[in-house]
Amino acid sequence: MEKHYNIPVFLPELACPFRCVYCNQSAISGHDAAPSVLEMKAVIESRLSTIPIGASDVEIAFFGGNFTGLPISYQEFCLRLANSYMSSGRVKGIRISTRPDFITQHAVRFLKQWNVRTIELGAQSLDDEVLVKSGRGHNAADVHNASDMIRAEGLRLGLQMMIGLPGDSLSSSLTTAQKIIEAGADETRIYPCLVIADTELEEQFKNGIYQALPLQDAIEWSAELYLLFERAGVKVIRMGLFPSDELRSYGYIAGPFHPAFKELVMTHIWKKLFEKTQWPEAKAIRIEVPVSERNFAIGYQAVNKKNLSERYEKVSFHAADLPHRDHFTIHIEKL
Ligand code: SF4
Repeated sequence: MEKHYNIPVFLPELACPFRCVYCNQSAISGHDAAPSVLEMKAVIESRLSTIPIGASDVEIAFFGGNFTGLPISYQEFCLRLANSYMSSGRVKGIRISTRPDFITQHAVRFLKQWNVRTIELGAQSLDDEVLVKSGRGHNAADVHNASDMIRAEGLRLGLQMMIGLPGDSLSSSLTTAQKIIEAGADETRIYPCLVIADTELEEQFKNGIYQALPLQDAIEWSAELYLLFERAGVKVIRMGLFPSDELRSYGYIAGPFHPAFKELVMTHIWKKLFEKTQWPEAKAIRIEVPVSERNFAIGYQAVNKKNLSERYEKVSFHAADLPHRDHFTIHIEKL
């Protein structure tokens, strides 16, 4: 499968009429003002210089805030710039992220005319109680309606979700994931909710009204969600927040943040798989796993390998041409 590259351009909190309890966009994205055309070009050129020439699946992605809530003139300003890169052949598509309640049929058609091919909606939860407690300002029906409009125009649909929001539970998150699948999403992102400085959630956290999800719970929930999405063919394009310098230095207060969050989740998935496995009586084993999963099988900081090394004198992992992690194989080796 060809590798996909996003070139993210952040438009933080622009046009967002709400303030979700957890949101401080400038701390999360590291940006707090609309980028000028020169800044956007610098971001795009710099990222393009790191992408192999000839890579065919490159998208310019306008992230953050609420793209379809921006004045039309500013949307056109951004899209014109992105289209100029498409005309030059260096970029194949455009994606935007926006709020579900700012999607209309007119807005989707407008974006389609400007070659937007993927719309990501911040769904976050499809549990109305969680949405209210999180101050999202929209309900689950808004997400379903927006999803239908996007799919009706033939655009790719991304539905982002968050775990550990106020009022959330594992069961509620699994239900949200199931509804994201049923809404026809092509892709998703799983973000653990963090407590960031200067947000309502920070107040709730300090007053003991909100308890942040422990890191281990976030890993275990995300592993269940990942497997659910994987079985349904919904691509999980991100797990965990990308850490901006601002988030590291002053924004982060509490919550399940880890710079290698995805690796921890995939390590946990392999750990559970190994726990279910019948292991041979031997001194040395060789484990063959799919190429893309070798590092995950070994585990973050080689934790899975270390666990197996308590049982075997020698454990080695090898990448093999296997279709899925469930097909991994164990071979007994001579010492
Ligand atoms: S929708 Fe919520 S999370 Fe997104 S920019 Fe607005 S306030 Fe922040």
